[in-house]
Parts: sequence; C-alpha cells; structure tokens
Amino acid sequence: MADYMKLNPDEKGYFGEYGGSFIPPQLQAEMDKITDAYYSISKSHDFISELRSIRKHFQGRPTPTYFCRNLSNRTGGRIYLKREDLNHTGAHKLNHCMGEGLLAKYLGKKKVIAETGAGQHGVALATAAAYFGLECEIHMGEVDIAKEHPNVVRMKLLGATVVPVSHGLKTLKEAVDSAFEAYLKDPVNAIYCIGSVVGPHPFPMLVRDFQHVVGVEAREQFIEMTGELPDSVTACVGGGSNAMGIFSGFIEDQEVRLVGVEPSGRSLKIGDHAASLSYGKPGVLHGFRSYLLQDDKGEPLPVYSIASGLDYPGSGPEHCMLKDKGRVEYTVASDDECLDAFYTLSKVEGIIPALESSHAVAYAMKYAKENPRKSILVNLSGRGDKDIDFVVDNYGIR
Ligand SMILES: *Cc1c(COP(=O)(O)O)cnc(C)c1O
Repeated sequence: MADYMKLNPDEKGYFGEYGGSFIPPQLQAEMDKITDAYYSISKSHDFISELRSIRKHFQGRPTPTYFCRNLSNRTGGRIYLKREDLNHTGAHKLNHCMGEGLLAKYLGKKKVIAETGAGQHGVALATAAAYFGLECEIHMGEVDIAKEHPNVVRMKLLGATVVPVSHGLKTLKEAVDSAFEAYLKDPVNAIYCIGSVVGPHPFPMLVRDFQHVVGVEAREQFIEMTGELPDSVTACVGGGSNAMGIFSGFIEDQEVRLVGVEPSGRSLKIGDHAASLSYGKPGVLHGFRSYLLQDDKGEPLPVYSIASGLDYPGSGPEHCMLKDKGRVEYTVASDDECLDAFYTLSKVEGIIPALESSHAVAYAMKYAKENPRKSILVNLSGRGDKDIDFVVDNYGIR
C-alpha cells in the first residue's frame, strides 16, 4: 500500500500519462503552495491526530462492513457493503472534506469554494466549513438545484452560500467552471476544495489520500469477518473518489479483482451516458489529463446519468492509469439496472442506497449471480434519502 501510494503520482503529479496540471500561472503558484504545504502538514503528528479524532468523534468512523444475507440468498454469491452511507452527512464525501477543511485551517484560509453535482459534496464541505468556522461558497447547476432540493436547503442551514449556475447544461461541469472562476478571483484567502479525485495536482492525490481510510478499514473488517480477502471489490465511478478510497486499500493484493462501474445511462448515444473511462479518449479538461467524453475538437460532450453525482465527462487520472495497466477493470450499469438495484436493496436489506452507489450494487448483483462461490465487497458510497422524491415521482414505488 504504502509503496504504491508513495510512487503514485510522480513528483509532477502524473499517474502514468494522466493528471498533471494545466492551469494559468497565477493559479499554478497557488497550487504549488498547497502541494508543498500538504506534503509537510499532512505528515505532521498534530494534523494526523486531529484528523483521526475528527473521524472518530464527529464523523462516526469506522463505518461498518456488512454482509447482505438476504440479497446474497437471492443472487447467490456473497455480497458485502462498506457502509459509507453511515458516515456523517450520509456519504463518503465528508472523508475528504474534513481533510480539506483541516488543511485550510492549517493554511490560515478564511473561505472554502467548491462545485457540487448531487449536492453531496456541497453538504459535506458546508459541514466541514461549519466545523472549522470557515466561510463556504458552493456553485451548483440550476438543473441539479431543482433535482436535489433537500441538499440545497441543508447547505443553507449549514451557513453556506449557494451560487446557481445557469449556463450550458446547468449541471456539474458548468458548476466546476464557475467555482474555478470564483477561486481565481481570491486565491489568497480562499481555497478550492474539489469534490473528487479530479482537477490539477495535488487534488487527485490529496482526495485519494483522505479517502484511503475507507479501503484500510474495509480490508481489516473484511478479513476479521471472513478470515480472507474478498474475491472482488467494486465501486461506482463519477470522478472516482469513493472508488479510489476503497481500491487503494486492496491495490497491492493482486488476487483481488477491482471493478469500477460507470453510468451507461439511457443508452450509449452521445448525451445519454457518462462512461468516460469506457468510451472516452485521453484529453485535457479542468486542468488535468484524463479519459474524456469529447468531440473531434476536444470539446467535452454533454453527459447524462440518473445519478447527478456521476454525470461528469472526465474521470480521475489515477483511474485512467489503472485502466491502462489493467489493474482495475471498468464496466457500466444502465439507469434501469441502477433502479433495479435501488429498489431491491431497499426492500430486501432495509438499506436505501444513493442512486450513484446503486450502480455498484447493480454490478455486484450481476457478479454474484454469475459467481455463486465468490465474494464481492461494494463501496456503498451514500444513502438514498436525497433521491427518494426524484425516484418515486419518476418511477413510482416498485
Ligand atoms: C458524489 C458521489 C459519488 C460520485 O463521486 P466519486 O468521486 O466518483 O466517488 C458517488 N456516490 C455518492 C453517494 C456521491 O455523493
């Protein structure tokens, strides 16, 4: 573990040929400061022990690993969940937000700025900002604001300012552009807190490092429960932070198959999905190089997923490298498969999953049916409370 994570990314922030930093010089100077500070601060005893205490007393970590007996009886195989839905605020995102907030505090920053898609990153960052006494500005597409209303209310209650973004498709990609612009106006007092393992160096590394706790806990818990390692580990991939969190815990266990699940949405037509690792080509967007869904001119294509947190045209650079190396396999789940998993897990196990996480559950159900003797561990990245109105209004109760 330690070796892999120390070696990746390289000093320039590259994961193989992906990642790096493609940003204006003014912003680069700020990123370099954050990188240098991160390397020294994050290794300090004070930082580590404060983060450990926050995780335990504020977030409620470690989250459990749970064997789905009822679901496994239906599908065959053995399906386990790493319960990030039980992390404070209901998703894995608080793991990196508390890390980013603590870093902001150590850097003497006054304000955190970010984008949000499903609203989960915004809620998590607003929570961190409240905890650390920082100002918080969240940029969000108008389409997502309408779809994820309860999360908008939560952010406001937590004291954040929500900035609506009304251009383009009015979703995550535009929100990223808008948040970047706001940060460029005040890079001294503010810090940009990215919501996934994306963006220019050091963010893909920093967010992965803060999510690594998920994989460390899950590996230990799984071995304690079963006496062995899982045959497969799976997670949904939007930007890829929850997936990198759990995968990084198992990456040096060569016998463990790692599978990332992207959204194939309504169909594989342009604008109907967001499976960038499966169907994209390398290119540069938002300051880093990754697999992108792009046209011939390198412009990002419109993307769609039933899960707002997955509709991003790029993906984390580390995933791109792991795909090329063949260490992680990437597959897709459609809206229909996601919904089936959403309804099934709710009814059979009493756990309503986030629509994002339901993509990984869908893959696990398929895998378990095909591999009745094998075990699969799913990173259940979040709970579905935020999605129930949307699902029931559009698809009813099944
Ligand atoms: C945001 C989100 C995701 C997607 O983000 P990743 O960086 O790919 O993990 C997945 N699940 C939930 C619950 C989310 O809120």
